[in-house]
Amino acid sequence: MSIEPGSIIGIVGGGQLGRMLSVAAAQLGYKCHIFDPHEAPCAADVAAAHFRGDFTDADALRRFAEPCAVVTYEFENLDPTPLEALGAKLRPGTESLRTSQDRVAEKEFLARCGGTPAPWRRIDSADDVRAALTALGAPILLKTRRMGYDGKGQAWVQSPDEADSAWAAIGKAPAIAEARIAFDAEFSVVTARGENGDTRAYPVPRNGHRDGILRRSEVPAGPPIDALAEAGIATAARVVEALGHIGVLTVEFFATASGALVNEFAPRVHNSGHWTIEGAETSQFEQHIRAICGLPLGPVGLTGAAASMDNLIGDEVDTWPALVAEAGAHVHLYGKGDARPGRKMGHVTRVKP
Ligand code: AMP
Repeated sequence: MSIEPGSIIGIVGGGQLGRMLSVAAAQLGYKCHIFDPHEAPCAADVAAAHFRGDFTDADALRRFAEPCAVVTYEFENLDPTPLEALGAKLRPGTESLRTSQDRVAEKEFLARCGGTPAPWRRIDSADDVRAALTALGAPILLKTRRMGYDGKGQAWVQSPDEADSAWAAIGKAPAIAEARIAFDAEFSVVTARGENGDTRAYPVPRNGHRDGILRRSEVPAGPPIDALAEAGIATAARVVEALGHIGVLTVEFFATASGALVNEFAPRVHNSGHWTIEGAETSQFEQHIRAICGLPLGPVGLTGAAASMDNLIGDEVDTWPALVAEAGAHVHLYGKGDARPGRKMGHVTRVKP
């Protein structure tokens, strides 16, 4: 059943993803309400209403959801329990949230979907760190099981002497350790699954990270990624199918000499899909809105020969005067106040005709 334009879409989380979802929803005649605890989240600037509440407040979430025809979320570090009360109104559902927010559940699930993760071990103590160094070979990367993003909650360990300090650095929180992957490149599959089970993946971008933060995405990805894209898209299709996911979902991969290794997935629109706003026939944001509203998915082909997206991180946003003066540069500024180091402040997309 499709949700009529004019209806209200609730978005839990008021960051730049919620902002760009709201813009896409408005284009289709929907009104977005944002649920976010902050005083002035950047999504609220472009939405019909903002409800201030704590993400763990089940009553507030229920009241927020009342006028909404559908409720979605723009980040995955949310307690699924209060959201469960929303039932089928929540799209995607809590299964997608639960699986993606625990790195152990996520890796086991991705392996069941046919993906090969990097060799990994569970970590619950500094002794486990030392054992993982022996089992996986140095160096290893510790990642907290929960609440990590943009390289946060991660620490490299080179030798057993560093085990105690690395375990302390991630807050002695339950974690995993991964072998270091000497990858040739990174890519992601941004895919969408509609209400009727129709699944469509965008051409896969090549992603460049620095300090754990995405810097640049480019399509077409080129070698060696092109040869691995089909298998990655098939894994992502099994992921959305197995979760009964409705909406956009992104799976991240490493391209190595021996094939693709799956890293993680996000049950949402993704930074590596921002280029789709101008670079694809349907943006990932519109695609997500289409999916959760029960509309047919849009086409996912490139609008030009190639596209690139560069993030504006921290004070890089100060380059905006030159960017807006550049013909063909599509500048997106998120309207966030304080350009703290590491904060995603905007992005710029260039499409090659
Ligand atoms: P993640 O939070 O898992 O997405 O990690 C952020 C980034 O850190 C990835 O995109 C990679 O660039 C890098 N990274 C993560 N895991 C590994 C690994 N096992 N080996 C080498 N680099 C990694």
